[in-house]
Amino acid sequence: MPAPLIVAVAPGSPAALAGLAPGDEVARLNGQVPRDVIEWKLLTDEPVLELDVVRGGIELIVDVSKGDGEPLGVEVQSAVFDRVRTCDNHCEFCFIYQLPKGMRRSLYLKDDDYRLSFLYGNFTTLTRFTEADLERVVTERLSPLNVSIHATDPEIRSRMLRNPRGGMSLRWLRALLDHGIEVRGQIVVCPGINDGAVFDDTMAGILDRFPDLASVAVVPLGLSRFNTEPAMRLHTADEAAAVVDAVDDWQDVFETVLGHRLVHAADEYYLMAGRPFPPAGSYDGFPMHEDGVGMARTFELEFLGDATAATGTRSGFFAAVDLPANPAAYTGLRATSCNGASGGAGHGATSVTLGPARRAPIGVLSGELGARVIGPLIVGLGRDDVRVVPVRNEFFGGNTAVTGLMTGADLSRVLAGEPQRHRYLLPDVCLSDDHRFLDGLSVADLPRPVEVVATDGFALRAALGEAIGHGR
Ligand code: SF4
Repeated sequence: MPAPLIVAVAPGSPAALAGLAPGDEVARLNGQVPRDVIEWKLLTDEPVLELDVVRGGIELIVDVSKGDGEPLGVEVQSAVFDRVRTCDNHCEFCFIYQLPKGMRRSLYLKDDDYRLSFLYGNFTTLTRFTEADLERVVTERLSPLNVSIHATDPEIRSRMLRNPRGGMSLRWLRALLDHGIEVRGQIVVCPGINDGAVFDDTMAGILDRFPDLASVAVVPLGLSRFNTEPAMRLHTADEAAAVVDAVDDWQDVFETVLGHRLVHAADEYYLMAGRPFPPAGSYDGFPMHEDGVGMARTFELEFLGDATAATGTRSGFFAAVDLPANPAAYTGLRATSCNGASGGAGHGATSVTLGPARRAPIGVLSGELGARVIGPLIVGLGRDDVRVVPVRNEFFGGNTAVTGLMTGADLSRVLAGEPQRHRYLLPDVCLSDDHRFLDGLSVADLPRPVEVVATDGFALRAALGEAIGHGR
């Protein structure tokens, strides 16, 4: 098993004082071999540490004394030191099968690892979950976890996952809930497969068997032009409206029986159906924001100054097409804690590539769906120097109109047709931590300078030079 590799040491930290340095490999920690950053964090919480370190091929022992629970002060290279558990399903709607060849290798990794669910909010189907995993989750309180449900009917779930264990594996969901683990569910709806009567049956199954789920996000399948599954197709507007109506009806049932709405439809459904988004207060605190549920409303609240802090937006719609939340992060994460925080562009961070004058006209770059959300907010500013520049996704095609899937190739095409010496704002949600797009191009490859802005309403407002606070 590869040893955790130290990539950074905080100056003045216990690790620095003990002489640990970037490049050190930690073979053992107090005699134990940590499997991931979760175990690493538990082990390094101890006040007295003995680290078996390999430095330049030479083994040495480093002793560390620190306060109980005090951070050690190192960043390690990856979140999982043993192998990421890969998925043994073959879902027809899997977006990873719909990626073109030649992209970053990490994008093709089909994970089904409860640790990545805990660390990053990735969804697990539990088809590879074991008794030992349950024991660890319960003992170490790895909560919350995100579980893909899709259908509660065992046959339909097995068929959707193309895995005979698909149906039975929901017993682990019951076991997790029985042990008090918070679980957020997700249903990827494929028209003609698990909408309509199957969706109603799934809702009834959740009410009957899993009413203690924290929330259930209902998201449409993502389809790219590379899809080869004939049964997978886009929703029609009527089908999208039917999903919205079904979610509405079941919210009433859940609210009556459970006291909360439980189930929410992704923003994309309201856009597809041409319906207004539900009021912000109906999202029960936006527990599924990262899954593309309520993003439009939180962005609006932030932009208008009606929120006090930005809601997490790093993965967003990207997760809604069942891709890993941050695919590069399994191998590239810099993490010292179990909260999933990673290095790189964080919320509120605005990296500016200086080019045009600050008073130049501004183009706000956005995926086509995001443009429909941001457009009215920009219009509401009453400024003629700011415009939204929608970026059609021709790289992936299909229904990949979300901002998180914007590629360098599409941005290059669109920007090449836009005036020079304007300012262009780029939401950071479409970038990996090394400022690369999904197609491997970087910000520096674009034909116009862009300013990378955190994907939230506060950051956009600040980048536009508008006062932060109540904007209305
Ligand atoms: S959609 Fe998820 S569970 Fe299904 S094959 Fe892809 S990675 Fe595996």
